[in-house]
Amino acid sequence: MCGIVGYVGSKKIGSRLIEGLKRLEYRGYDSSGIAAISEKQLQFTKKVGRVKVLEQSTPKAYENATTGICHTRWATHGAVSEANAHPHMSSDGHFALVHNGVIENYTQIKSFLTTKGYTFASETDSETLVNLIAYHYDKEPEVKDGSRFLESVRKSLLHVEGTFGIAVISELYPDELVCARRGSPLIIGVGKEEHLIASDVNAITHCTQNVVYLNDNEIVHLNKDDFSISTISNVSVDAVIQTVDWDTSEAELGSFKHFMEKEIFEQPNALENGMRGRFSDDGSTAFFGGLNLSPQELQQVDRLVFIACGTAWHACLIAEYLIERYARIPVEVEYASEFRYRNAPLDKNTLIIAISQSGETIDTLSALKEAKRKGYKTLSINNSVGSSIARECDGGIYQHAGPEIGVASTKAFTSQVMLCSMLALYFGRSRNLSYADGCEIVRALKQLPELTKKTLETTEQVQKIAKKYAHYEDCLFLGRQMMFPIALEGALKLKEISYIHAEGYPAAEMKHGPIALISEQCPSVFLTMNGEMFQKTLANIKEIKARKGAVICIAPEKCDLPKDAVDDLIQIPDAHDILLPILMSIPVQLLSYYIALERGCDVDKPRNLAKSVTVE
Ligand code: GLU
Repeated sequence: MCGIVGYVGSKKIGSRLIEGLKRLEYRGYDSSGIAAISEKQLQFTKKVGRVKVLEQSTPKAYENATTGICHTRWATHGAVSEANAHPHMSSDGHFALVHNGVIENYTQIKSFLTTKGYTFASETDSETLVNLIAYHYDKEPEVKDGSRFLESVRKSLLHVEGTFGIAVISELYPDELVCARRGSPLIIGVGKEEHLIASDVNAITHCTQNVVYLNDNEIVHLNKDDFSISTISNVSVDAVIQTVDWDTSEAELGSFKHFMEKEIFEQPNALENGMRGRFSDDGSTAFFGGLNLSPQELQQVDRLVFIACGTAWHACLIAEYLIERYARIPVEVEYASEFRYRNAPLDKNTLIIAISQSGETIDTLSALKEAKRKGYKTLSINNSVGSSIARECDGGIYQHAGPEIGVASTKAFTSQVMLCSMLALYFGRSRNLSYADGCEIVRALKQLPELTKKTLETTEQVQKIAKKYAHYEDCLFLGRQMMFPIALEGALKLKEISYIHAEGYPAAEMKHGPIALISEQCPSVFLTMNGEMFQKTLANIKEIKARKGAVICIAPEKCDLPKDAVDDLIQIPDAHDILLPILMSIPVQLLSYYIALERGCDVDKPRNLAKSVTVE
């Protein structure tokens, strides 16, 4: 969600921290701030708005500092304001803290600290924690070394309920930094005579490729040469340093205007990377190195439960259609935020599969932990190597789609759908799907990158259609069977970046309510497939046209639509059914993108939204 970057080292902070913060801008935020130990004093600057505003107002003197922390905030407690932006100072002025997450018992902590004379300058939950640290620090006057700093943070965290990724600095310990996590991601970057900490690996790869992924309930004490990790309950932990295989140029715009545009056009490559090396030599099935499922375990699975949020949840719905069709395994799809609290009865042989682009989505992570606690085997599909969800699961599949920066998911979604199709093939071949049917699907999947490229040729046409429809304030997306989740995804995409009210429905459901919305003011986007559903979808199109609703139709070339049946027709290449959800998604993404541009919206950073939702 929001982001944290911290530095302690022999070099000057210079632009290192702000550069790191800029790399987190895509996550969605409303304000930002920086604190540094400059001229032996703890100083801070906070601003509402973009990181650029913070950069312009940060005093030059900070650049010479060698210890500092900074933050982009996505407000949960208290309005968007300079006072509520992080870092927060303790009221004695000794400590500064940045925090991602939510401190659930902050009102109790605040009341307690108020009785002890601490004062508060913000409405946030986070400020209570920095004062709690100052309180614990004051309670141990006899110790003078850095352990007193570390221990006061540790003791404070023992009293905290909720989630946190925090970094703390103190003018009393100008060359040290303490950080900790529970529920929010935190990574240490290990450099030469310097250490960084960040909530996202992307924020530190400009300084070092060597990283340590922290686990929940770990606390770290760092200086320029060294760092030590322990649990919050004070058990020491060995650090495992890993090298990140991350091409930083992938996170840059290049010749594209927006990350969303870039990521739409990266789909042929992203899909190719996701399938590379994952087909069997006999060309009849897929396999995944990291699933950690023996053929016997696979045989025993008699139900799959997919858990996810947002766009990833739509990918799960497609998995449901595909896996039930090809593997005949019953599938259920759950919103992670509901599943985690619902206490659903599950059969013994249920396999849980979590999908999350970032691998940090808090609801998905928590639902997964709940399933694990009950003893279920868990797998994940995610795009971020070493993420919390990837580490939590018994096995999983990495998407290899490259970093997705645009808040509205595009390439991560299609890559998830592709991996679900491959999973359907894999499960199918372990059960009833024949060798010949398996080979046919593998041949189809191998054509996907090329067909995706061809589908992207619709761009110019979609751009024109977008101009025509950009002024509407309502829109329906309709489709049957596997096109229903794409209708949901189309509506989500349009509303999140263009702020047009849009809804997705199974086309036949339209008659049970949404048809009341149809008028000249409400166009519909139909996602139409060939086959037994075609005539039925055509009938739904006619029902809309009869009520003066405009219809945009996206359909494969061979779809036999009568002339003038629709107002605008976008044709995608003919392809095997299993590929259609992915190919249909492309004009849907382009339509939202160009409509949002027409309306002057900030496509990569839509209002109120964050890329990776790490608060409940
Ligand atoms: N709960 C804190 C606040 O509202 C932190 C929010 C965040 O994770 O950015 O300031």
